[in-house]
Amino acid sequence: MDKSKSKFVKIKCSKCGNEQVIFGKASTKVKCDKCGKLIVKPSGGNAKIRAKVEEVIKRQNV
Ligand SMILES: [Zn+2]
Repeated sequence: MDKSKSKFVKIKCSKCGNEQVIFGKASTKVKCDKCGKLIVKPSGGNAKIRAKVEEVIKRQNV
């Protein structure tokens, strides 16, 4: 069995208020679906989230 801990976060764009769920360890830039504001910036294995975190969703298996 594969024990992979994946963390997802629900974030809210500070500019337009759009909510979207992103992977907590995103290795690529993530932009807001609506307004295109850069909300996630990858930095050394961890994603730097530049938006308001509404909820952290933990998953044991995907
Ligand atoms: Zn936005």
